[in-house]
Formats: sequence, C-alpha cells, structure tokens
Amino acid sequence: MSTGDHERTIPLKTETTLVTAGRDTKAQKGFVNPPVVHGSTVLYATADDLHAHRGEYQYGRHGSPTTKALQQALMALEGPQCAGVGIAPSGLAAITTTLLAVLKAGDHLLVCDNVYRPSRNFCNGMLARYGVETTYFDPLIGSAITSLFKPNTKAVLIEAPGSQSFEMPDVPAIASAAHSHGAIVIDDNTWATPLFHRSLEQGVDISIQAATKYIGGHSDIMFGTISANAATWPSVSDAIRFLGVCAGPDDVFLAIRGLRTLAVRLAQHHRSGLEMAQWLAKRPEVLRVLHPALETDPGHAIWKRDFTGASGLFGVVLKPVPEASVDAILNSLELFGMGYSWGGFESLVIPFDCTSYRTATKWAPGGPTLRLHIGLENVEDLKADLARGFDALRAG
Ligand SMILES: *Cc1c(COP(=O)(O)O)cnc(C)c1O
Repeated sequence: MSTGDHERTIPLKTETTLVTAGRDTKAQKGFVNPPVVHGSTVLYATADDLHAHRGEYQYGRHGSPTTKALQQALMALEGPQCAGVGIAPSGLAAITTTLLAVLKAGDHLLVCDNVYRPSRNFCNGMLARYGVETTYFDPLIGSAITSLFKPNTKAVLIEAPGSQSFEMPDVPAIASAAHSHGAIVIDDNTWATPLFHRSLEQGVDISIQAATKYIGGHSDIMFGTISANAATWPSVSDAIRFLGVCAGPDDVFLAIRGLRTLAVRLAQHHRSGLEMAQWLAKRPEVLRVLHPALETDPGHAIWKRDFTGASGLFGVVLKPVPEASVDAILNSLELFGMGYSWGGFESLVIPFDCTSYRTATKWAPGGPTLRLHIGLENVEDLKADLARGFDALRAG
C-alpha cells in the first residue's frame, strides 16, 4: 500500500511491525507521523452526542490521536495475547498502577528478590499500609515457587533479569506455578523489551516497560507502558481511569519515535554489550561479569531458551579493592557517564550493592560491583576508556 500503513492483513516480521504499526496516514492528511495533540477538552457536536459521550475521543486524559498511535504500535509489537496497553508518566508509575489494579486489602503478593528497588519500596510502604502482604523469593527459585503460594496469593512480580544483579528467573516455570494457584504474573520487561523477550507468549499476564529506557532510547523522556492480556486488561484499564494516570503528548510522541528505531538500536546494544562483556571477563582486575548472554553465566541456559537477544546493561564484579580505588576508576572515565537510568544512546556506569535491602537471598558477589550500560559509541573507544579506569585503579 502506497502510504506505508499496515492493517494486519499480511504477516510481518517484528522490525517491519515497529516501522508500520500505529500509522494512519489518511487521518494525518498524508503526514507519516501522528500529530502531537495537546488537549484536555474535546468538543461534542450536539447535546445528544454530549449526553451519550459519542465520539472517538472524550477527554484528554482518556486518550488522543497521539496516544492511540502509540498503543496500536505497542499492541502489534506485543502480539495477539495483548488486549490493551496502558500509558503511565514513568516506569515506576506503570508498576504501581498495575499493582493497585490487581490487588486489594487482604491479598498476598510474591516479589522477586532482585526486583527494581523502588518497586520494593512501594510494596513495603504503600501496599503494606493498604493491607497487602509481600513475600520476597529467590529469583532462581524456578518451579519450587509453588510452596510459597497461599490461598490469598493474587500476583507474582518478576524482573528477568534483575536490572542490578542480572539473575535470570525461569519465567515459564513461575507463570505455570502461579496460574495453577489462580495468581497472575506481572513482568517488568524493561531490560529485554518485547523485542528480545516475548513475555506475554511465555505466560506472563501483564508486561511492563519503563519506556524511559530503550523505547524512548535517547535519555530525554520519563514514560511507562502496561501491556495486559484479556483477563487482566479490564482491571488495568479501570485503575488507570480511577487514578487519573496519563502522560504528556510530547513524551508519548517521543516514545513512538523511539519505537521506530528500537530494532536497530537494540541490535547494536546487544553486539556492543556482549563484546564489552567478553573483553571485561578477560581483564585481570575482574572477578566475573554478570551478563546472561555469556556462556559462563549461571542464567545462560534460560536466557538462550527464552530470549532472542540481550540489551546493553550488565554487571561487573571486581576483585576485592578498597572503595577509594573504585572511585578512582569512576573519576578517570571520560566516556562512561556516572548516572542513574540507562537505555539511551550513551554509556553509563554506577557502583551498586544490594546487600542492605535483599531479604530472601544474600547478596555476596565477592567484590565491588559496577553496573555498565553500553551505549552506541564505538566499542574500541569504550574499551580504551575502561582501560584508563583500570590504569587509575592500579595507580591508586
Ligand atoms: C528505570 C526502571 C524502572 C522505573 O522507570 P522510571 O521511568 O525511571 O520510573 C522500572 N524498572 C526497571 C527495571 C528500571 O530499570
């Protein structure tokens, strides 16, 4: 079709879906991209229409041509199990909205011990205050999770792999145990994105993206998405309405723009990330590299079975050195920036230590640990930068 639009009539590969989905050239008077609709009020033509809320759009918070384009594109990316996509102003808001959507006072929640720390704070803080009990479990528990279910267990929250420690949970085994106990599974799929991990196809009921990371891809938005299956979409959609969750149109537009190039960016993050991980694994200063795509990683078999790629985020455990020596590395780097978040075009590094907040498992990696995000710079420049860091370590 000459407009480049696609109406799900021919089967398409994912890269093509990312380019074509959610486009409506005719509605946009020929322009390739949707308009960025800044809007609250939607006008109705007649009193009858007003009373019946008749019209494609009713009110800015409930959706616009911009949000519709993004939701359609994400639904096509997630696949046929996806019944709806919710939009949130941050990844964390996507997670908290989802938990509020599916839980009520008196319920029990199971959470992976390697979960994103602010998710944990929400469970221990607000959810506890509202009468929801949380039990943390070893991310490597597999089907043994079955012993942790109680009659009131309603949901399991996982992250595969955890975005700090990179342990790889067995998603299909956890999903099958959860479903046999009448609980649903929520997956924070930010690390792999739906491109590299088909959460909903693997038994997950609700798949969440901190779209701040790879979907945005340029470190310039805060954004989150909630992809839900048919069983869970009605409660997610209700919670979004009850709570008034929405996002600004400029960020929605930048998320659409990011989606169009997600496949090429992630392919490069995968290649460069793996090359840097392999290079680091051979350095004398390094004890081990936490990257599930490395054959030596304990999570490799699961990664190979369930994932089609790896993103550019992984961990490095250094041989024991004083904290000041780790700071000497960090201060000598010129390309790796020190900062939170990841998923943009630029390389980043932060030290991390989960010892103080893990409860189901003991975090003892054997040395100081860094988390690296490998951006889109040339890998030779990145190796030279880290080599400079190791020189500073030896000098200190
Ligand atoms: C960053 C991140 C979030 C939160 O996303 P924000 O947009 O920063 O709120 C959630 N989960 C994971 C795994 C993340 O890395």
